[in-house]
Amino acid sequence: MKIDFNLHKALELRRQSPDRVAAVQESLWRQHLGQAANSPFYRRLLAEMEIEPAESTLADLARLPFTTRHDLERDPSSFLAAPPERQVDLALTSGSTGDPILVPYTANDLDRLAFNEMLNFWGAGIRAADRLLLCVTLDRCFVAGLAYYLGLVKLGCGAIRSGPGQPARQWELLNRLHPTGLVGVPSFLLKTALWGREQGFDPRACGIRYLVTIGEPVRKCDGTLTPLGRELEESWSAKVFNNYGATEMETAFSECSSGCGGHVHPELMLAEIVDDAGRVLPPGEPGEVVVTPLGVEGLPLLRFRTGDIARLHVEPCSCGWQTPRLGAIEGRLAQRLKVSGTTIYPEMVFQVLQELPEVKNSYLEIRSTYDLSEEINVVVGLDNPADQAITLRLAELLQARLRVRPRLTAQDHDLVQKTMEQGGGRKLKRFFDLRGEQKT
Ligand SMILES: [Zn+2]
Repeated sequence: MKIDFNLHKALELRRQSPDRVAAVQESLWRQHLGQAANSPFYRRLLAEMEIEPAESTLADLARLPFTTRHDLERDPSSFLAAPPERQVDLALTSGSTGDPILVPYTANDLDRLAFNEMLNFWGAGIRAADRLLLCVTLDRCFVAGLAYYLGLVKLGCGAIRSGPGQPARQWELLNRLHPTGLVGVPSFLLKTALWGREQGFDPRACGIRYLVTIGEPVRKCDGTLTPLGRELEESWSAKVFNNYGATEMETAFSECSSGCGGHVHPELMLAEIVDDAGRVLPPGEPGEVVVTPLGVEGLPLLRFRTGDIARLHVEPCSCGWQTPRLGAIEGRLAQRLKVSGTTIYPEMVFQVLQELPEVKNSYLEIRSTYDLSEEINVVVGLDNPADQAITLRLAELLQARLRVRPRLTAQDHDLVQKTMEQGGGRKLKRFFDLRGEQKT
């Protein structure tokens, strides 16, 4: 059985009982295993485990070892499962944790991507009459922008391929083409609203109803909006829908109008949450997100460890879809810190900093101390770094929320911006891991 990329069949599946969904998934699982067995890595693994794809059941999932980014980086070609003549789009991972990895898409993989994003837009309430301004990168071997574009086209919406940056250009298109939604990075969409307001435009009255965001968290793990998410909704008078995905996953979870996590698309994904020892955790408990994207041809993966921390919710959702939801990403495993015996993720610090409008920008520096604990230096960019009252308030707020008191360095926000732009990557650098380096 292959995935049917039909909107109405997909919507029907989302209203079925868990048993019925599991039966469909099992059939797709067998097909996915068969495709994975075309890659040298999984052919060897499945033979060792004595798993025969055509006879496997979903119970085999928990028997399989995890695949890590490290496995992919060590020998990327051993994961390829489609010959070059079937690879039609060559994407690269953004390389935030290592060398970029080639993720080749077949024509069917692109259809799958379009289907996934079509459902994400549909779940947000977007329909064919809507027009969306795509303020994301569509080229440079990134896949997210392409996925959004294909999804909009498949849904029959108007896609406006603006690209990222330059609020002036975004406003030119807003005024000329009257989109009903924006797709982009939250901080940039907020910057665009503020820029427009300064120029005398009214972002709250220009017809934007949907803000589809990527890359930065807009919700806390309890489902409420972060200060950035709240400010974004207020600035455009529109609703935020966050998407979570990664290039290797080839799948994005979609937030529905209930705003309580990203729905797992049952025909596209098996999602698990595991603890440090690799044990599968029950719903509601935070752990590492492990994904098995179904139906991928070019680079099929089994039990891929994402390195992201979140929890799964299985209570029925008020939107009517009966599928589990992935809560907000609470942190990255690689950035987990132990400070004075307390576990902290950088995202927790950034969420506190967002509450003070005086903080224009910020990054973290992490160093090891002699007792193998970690020391955080929170660098904040202010208009007036000499203002002691603000730094004192910040220190108290951090202490109250995190139960530890990190070091705090106030700098001019232009200087902080320059430091964050180092490396010239797609994203501003906000986490400087100096744990392997000598203290100077
Ligand atoms: Zn829902």
